[in-house]
Amino acid sequence: MIKDIFNAAFGYSPEAEGFTPGRVNLIGEHTDYNGGYVLPTALQLGLTIAIKPRDDQKVRIVSKGYDGRSEALLDAPPTDHWSDYARGAILYAGKTGLLAGGADIAVSSTLPEGAGLSSSAAITVGILKLARDLSGSEMDDVTISQIARRIENEFIGMPCGIMDQMAVAIASPGQALFLDTDALTYDLVDLPEDHHMAVVHSGKYRLLNEGRYKERKEECDVVKSALGRNDICQISQKELDGLSNLDEVFQRRARHCMTEHRRTIGAATAVLENDLPELGRLMIESHNSMRDDFEITLPAIDQLVEDAIKFGALGARMTGGGFGGCIVACVEKTRLDQWKTELLSKHQDAFYVC
Ligand code: ADP
Ligand code: MG
Repeated sequence: MIKDIFNAAFGYSPEAEGFTPGRVNLIGEHTDYNGGYVLPTALQLGLTIAIKPRDDQKVRIVSKGYDGRSEALLDAPPTDHWSDYARGAILYAGKTGLLAGGADIAVSSTLPEGAGLSSSAAITVGILKLARDLSGSEMDDVTISQIARRIENEFIGMPCGIMDQMAVAIASPGQALFLDTDALTYDLVDLPEDHHMAVVHSGKYRLLNEGRYKERKEECDVVKSALGRNDICQISQKELDGLSNLDEVFQRRARHCMTEHRRTIGAATAVLENDLPELGRLMIESHNSMRDDFEITLPAIDQLVEDAIKFGALGARMTGGGFGGCIVACVEKTRLDQWKTELLSKHQDAFYVC
C-alpha cells in the first residue's frame, strides 16, 4: 500500500494519493511533434503516488524498488537521478500555481521503466493532478498535459511531443485517444472487446535521452525548414516530391511522417467500424515505415513483429520512440494464451507486459 510506503519513509500520512496509467501507442509514431495524429491507449499498469506538501523548499522522494531516499531543494538542477522527473513535477507545480513549497512523495509502480510505456509522463501527470486536487484548482487535463510536457522538454532536456502526457492524463484502459497533436483536440474511441492489444517487451533496452530520438527530431527540423512549415504530417505527395533536392534520408523521414499520419486516421476509423483486419494491416504498414523510412527499429524487434504476425496477430508493430522497448499486437482474446506461448518460446529475451 502506498500509504504504508509513505508512512515508513516520512513518519506521517500523505495528504493525497492517486493512480495514473501508463500508455501504449497503437499507431502514429513520431507524428506528435510533426503536426499529426496519434492513437495511444491507457494500460491497466501504472503508477500510484502519495504526496504531502511541505511549506519549506525541500522535496523528498521515495520510490519502491529504487535506491534510497532523494532529498533536494526545489530549485536544484536535475542530476541525472531517477528522482529528477518527480522533482521536476513539484517545481513546475509551483511555477504554475498548484503548490506553494516543496513536498514529500512516495511512488509505487507496476510499469516497467524506460520501456516506452510512459512511466515518465505517468509520474509528472500524476504529481501535477494531485497538486491540482490539493490546491482546489480547476485546471483542465490538457493544461496539465502541457505542463507535464514542459517538465520533460525544459527541465529534463528531453524534446518529446505531447502524446504521452495527453494519453495518461485523459485515456482509460479499453479506450484509445485519437488525438490531433496540433490542435490538441481529441476523441475517445472504445477498443473492441474480443481482441487484446498485447504489449510484449523485446528485452532490448534503450535510453530515450541517449540521443537517437533527438537525432530524428533534428532531421525533421531540416525537413521543416525546407518546407517552410512545421506540420510535416500534413503535406501532400506533391509537396513530398518537392523535397527532392534534400538528401534522400530526409525525404524518407518526411515520407514516414506523411504516411504514418494517414495510417493513424485510417486506424481510428477501422476501430470505430470494428474493421480489425484493416487495423492490423495498418499496424504492419506502420512498422515497415518505421523500419525502412524512419529507421528506428532494430533487427531483433523486426523479427519479433514478424513472428507475432506469423503466430496469429492481426497486426503488430514496434511502439514508442524506437531502438528498443515494446511491440504492440492486436490478438484475438481466445487465441491470446497460445500466441503468447509460441512467441515467447521463440524469443527468449522477450517478455509479456500486459
Ligand atoms: P518511459 O518510456 O517509461 O517514459 P523514460 O526514460 O521517458 O521512460 O522515463 C523514465 C524515467 O521516469 C525514470 O528514469 C525516472 O526518472 C522516472 N520514473 C519512472 N518510473 C518511476 C518510478 N516508479 N519512481 C520514480 N521515478 C520513476
Ligand atoms: Mg517517457
